Amino acid sequence: MRYLSTRGQPERRRFCEILLEGLAPDGGLYLPERYPQVDAATLAKWRGLSYPELAFELLSLYIDDIPAADLKAICAKTYTAEIFGTAEIVPLRELEDGVYLEALSNGPTLAFKDMAMQLLGNLFEYELGRRGEELNILGATSGDTGSAAEYAMRGKKGVRVFMTSPDGRMSPFQQAQMFSLQDPNIHNLAVTGVFDDCQDIVKAVSSDLDFKRKYRIGTVNSINWARLLAQVVYYFAGYFQATGSNDKQVSFTVPSGNFGNVCAGHVARSMGLPIRTLVVATNENDVLDEFFRTGVYRVRSAADTHETSSPSMDISKASNFERFVFDLVGRDAAKTRALFEGELGSNGRFDLSADPVFAQAAGRFGFASSRSTHADRLATIRDTDKRFATLIDTHTADGLKAAREHLAPGVPMIVLETALPIKFAETIVEALGHAPDRPARFEGIEALPRRVVQLPANAEAVKAYIAQHCA
Ligand SMILES: *Cc1c(COP(=O)(O)O)cnc(C)c1O
Repeated sequence: MRYLSTRGQPERRRFCEILLEGLAPDGGLYLPERYPQVDAATLAKWRGLSYPELAFELLSLYIDDIPAADLKAICAKTYTAEIFGTAEIVPLRELEDGVYLEALSNGPTLAFKDMAMQLLGNLFEYELGRRGEELNILGATSGDTGSAAEYAMRGKKGVRVFMTSPDGRMSPFQQAQMFSLQDPNIHNLAVTGVFDDCQDIVKAVSSDLDFKRKYRIGTVNSINWARLLAQVVYYFAGYFQATGSNDKQVSFTVPSGNFGNVCAGHVARSMGLPIRTLVVATNENDVLDEFFRTGVYRVRSAADTHETSSPSMDISKASNFERFVFDLVGRDAAKTRALFEGELGSNGRFDLSADPVFAQAAGRFGFASSRSTHADRLATIRDTDKRFATLIDTHTADGLKAAREHLAPGVPMIVLETALPIKFAETIVEALGHAPDRPARFEGIEALPRRVVQLPANAEAVKAYIAQHCA
């Protein structure tokens, strides 16, 4: 399998070449040259597999530069009951007739990003070891991504993590999760400023190419192809749990921000998994809902990006969306480049409403969308608690509300549960008047010793810190 860029650079790359990279050199995103097709016989064979076995079979279709025995061992070591809480890894439960919740948030940081990041940690350690190289991951987080990255990379050989976060602005639980890590390869940098300052610092450091090369700076953001690929696995696992045979269709609803999670659903569907509809659920930051309703993709300004109670979906643009648009326009790289570099670059928007391909987003590709508000989240959390004695988090609530707007008779609807309610306790208290239960392993983490340094919001201070700690 070779990988191409959505913007048309002629070189084709192999999996391990793009594993440690972000964007392609031409500014595009990597995608496989084709989506391997799974036929009925393959589905029948995969139905009986355990999660790590399924992950190995699926990854093998996309990775041909890691020996099979090694890849199998990596999958087995990643997806264990110790790390993800159950042997099913992503257990499915029926909430009401035909509506299911697929639990993706029982990993170390209680959000779905662990599903991919845990695999990435093991793939990075493997590949860096093979090359005899080191990598220093620099990131910015307002919560979920940073903690998932730190828990995936802690103790990994050849990897250090430098994670900037806005000082005092993450929830006490999120701060405790990250700052209580004592691993010497994990560095928490609390920056005096807001999340945007952290992102600006990461950009400034990464665009200093000499520094970047000298200190081997890398990232683990959501455009990484390996992260997306890892997420494809749980669409298959959810399908098998919701159906008794492979002639059935299911639909998925996916709480969405950067379009990484639901893009994995698009890949699964493109491989032939019988998915009828992929419902994109957004909060008030409805860039994606607007596109699927109108054909207009419009990046929001900072002033037009809302801080909501489902904060992991508070995005101004959807960084993985270009992957889907590339497929939507018939894999035409020149057209993709014209949309994302040309029109988006100069106007901050593009409009496909008059383009015949737009109808295919819903038709051929099965996409639908809905948008929720804070009031919707509170109502859905209350209703789910009252009628089903089930506590859901704010992102999953956005999903459940959207799911109910797109039900089809006889087609199971699987809502992806992307976080546990304890991570967003404030809103649960607002909805229900009491805080959610906390998993035993997180009892008292606020009282643990903390490993974090305060730095001013400037790139030079962060560079100096990195230089000091890379020796
Ligand atoms: C990151 C995240 C999302 C959004 O996922 P995307 O891949 O960015 O669309 C939704 N819910 C939670 C809890 C998250 O952490």
